[in-house]
Amino acid sequence: ITVTDLVKESYARISEVDSKVQAFLALNEDRALAQAKELESKLGQTDNGLLFGMPIGVKDNIVTKDLRTTASSKILGNFDPIYDATVVNKLQAADAITIGKLNMDEFAMGSSTENSHFQKTKNPWNLETVPGGSSGGSAAAVAAGEVPFSLGSDTGGSIRQPASFCGVVGLKPTYGRVSRFGLIAFASSLDQIGPITRNVEDNAYMLQAIAGLDPNDSTSANVAVPDYRKALTGDIKGLRIAVPKEYLGEGVSEEVRQSILAALKVLEGLGATVDEVSLPHSKYGVATYYLLSSSEASANLARFDGIRYGYRAENAENLIDLYKKTRAEGFGDEVKRRIMLGTYALSSGYYDAYYKKAQQVRTLIKQDFDQIFEQYDVVVGPTTPTPAFKIGENIDDPLTMYANDILTIPVNLAGVPGISVPAGFSKGLPLGLQIIGKHFDESTVYRVAHAFE
Ligand code: GLN
Repeated sequence: ITVTDLVKESYARISEVDSKVQAFLALNEDRALAQAKELESKLGQTDNGLLFGMPIGVKDNIVTKDLRTTASSKILGNFDPIYDATVVNKLQAADAITIGKLNMDEFAMGSSTENSHFQKTKNPWNLETVPGGSSGGSAAAVAAGEVPFSLGSDTGGSIRQPASFCGVVGLKPTYGRVSRFGLIAFASSLDQIGPITRNVEDNAYMLQAIAGLDPNDSTSANVAVPDYRKALTGDIKGLRIAVPKEYLGEGVSEEVRQSILAALKVLEGLGATVDEVSLPHSKYGVATYYLLSSSEASANLARFDGIRYGYRAENAENLIDLYKKTRAEGFGDEVKRRIMLGTYALSSGYYDAYYKKAQQVRTLIKQDFDQIFEQYDVVVGPTTPTPAFKIGENIDDPLTMYANDILTIPVNLAGVPGISVPAGFSKGLPLGLQIIGKHFDESTVYRVAHAFE
């Protein structure tokens, strides 16, 4: 099989199933085929990259030079970036091939990919259910066999939750592990790009290619990147696993609880020890997250004004009117809801009561994890409280939608890495096991995930 065959196979699969799954927003076919030819000519001649010839899908909030990048928003509906994100450059340097751009919730705000301005992606396991979100296109494309690798972003669960719903492997790296340069910002203190793949080994390869310090992102960390593949030994004897009681308690469905209890038995059978612990502040996670992330979003989204990027409203009477009309017409309801909430929380007189308080609770949530990690190697629990829900089921009820993130959000607030790996099915829908590690210890997270899968 040649690289060209591989790339053609990916596009053939997309033509076969994407009219149903609706994961892709834009395709890169001519350039991908040209790149495949180029790679073939250098096969074996020089050092071939880690992902040589591998077809990759990219979430649409990661900028790609001359390839339409909308973040699934009308306001960026005609935006063609003039540069590549650092992760895209790194994948290119690893000889991977960009196949196209993947659907998502507008500006990564959502848990079902129903907030895209353009289309609703379906869960390949059951087309009546959501793929999760906000990286729903990225998870669905891998699950449907359209691409073997994709990039997602995770601010409050947006890689792990859709990975869980679609039965694939998704990792949110430690905050700072992967450069955010070229990621369209939602909440900058939480956003992290990460890999979505069919199995743990592929995931480790992809992280290897994208991780590391980037002078273009001052929050990317100067921490050595280990060889993640060395962690895939299958050996977890003596490893100490903590299970927070809050992660199997109220709000978590019985089917999910049972599948996690079964997973813990498997891990014990492999020689790990399992103890119950507590994350006492995790119950404040959702409230803290929606306050902080909306505050940051209200600032980050101020740049979309009809002047610099994308959509511009017609018939404006003056500059202020142009801003107003552009933003009123260009943003969807969920994005407006967050901008209003964030602007309110940051306004003078309310700052101490809301934003500052939320920052303090964030520290408490992080300290809960720090304490557990003094004695344990990983924290394990479900990724989501339920399997995938029906399209339309939660769309008119933002609070129920937000509650979906209860098990993923504390990980972003603490900045630690977390993975979702498939852990069985309920009524034909996949369930995910979440494995959370210490800061910059993706290796141990992969070690456990690989031994389990
Ligand atoms: N569902 C969460 C939200 O709507 C998480 C999104 C994300 O991680 N990008 O904010």
